[in-house]
Amino acid sequence: MANRPSIAVSSCLLGHNVRYDGSNRHCRIVTDILASQMEFIPQCPEVGLGMGSPRPTIGLYQYKQTLRLLRNPDYYDFTDAMDQYARVSLQKLSKIDGYIFKKGSPSCGPWQVPVYQMGKPDPVGQSAGRYAAAFKQTYPWIPVTTEVSLQNRDILENFTLRVQTLYRWHQSEPIDLGTLRQFHSDYTKQLPLNELHRTQLNTLVEQATGETLTSVRAVYLQRLMDALAPE
Ligand code: SF4
Repeated sequence: MANRPSIAVSSCLLGHNVRYDGSNRHCRIVTDILASQMEFIPQCPEVGLGMGSPRPTIGLYQYKQTLRLLRNPDYYDFTDAMDQYARVSLQKLSKIDGYIFKKGSPSCGPWQVPVYQMGKPDPVGQSAGRYAAAFKQTYPWIPVTTEVSLQNRDILENFTLRVQTLYRWHQSEPIDLGTLRQFHSDYTKQLPLNELHRTQLNTLVEQATGETLTSVRAVYLQRLMDALAPE
């Protein structure tokens, strides 16, 4: 087991030349500040999908009430291929402690990615990038952020706290009834939780039994990570 948290990072933020134009978006906050605390797992879904670099750009498009991932300018449809790639590749990320995504990418952006309509230059809405959306749906308890959000010191500290918390949870596994109680009493009491969240977590742990452990464990982790997330 790694002796520090493992987080996935969009490869271009680590300085890898994987962008559509063969460039990168090296983020010093990641490589200079977080590198001493975390192990990085580089992820580029577009290169992973075999699109190469350099490559034509792709974008999110509204098409017949659905969201599609289309190549410019010929509108070749990568949606199903990306979904399939996500289904397979995300299985390897079930035990990571966080993910730093590239903001605004139609694949990696976790939120506020522009959505277009074919033939129109201006965005008609916003959504999550296709791969990031699949990640968030598969692992809603794993902390997610972007390189832009991390420029805010409060967000950087909060992300680090959530990553450390999930790392501590992963280190405690396998979590039986005794481990859950110990994690809750030893670790959670140091965390900046409000009274409502603390009470809810106390109740969950107090009411857990051997029969309900599997579901309680999942609910506890999700509630704990939600409680630590920024409003
Ligand atoms: S944003 Fe994601 S898909 Fe685009 S280059 Fe970076 S890692 Fe690759």
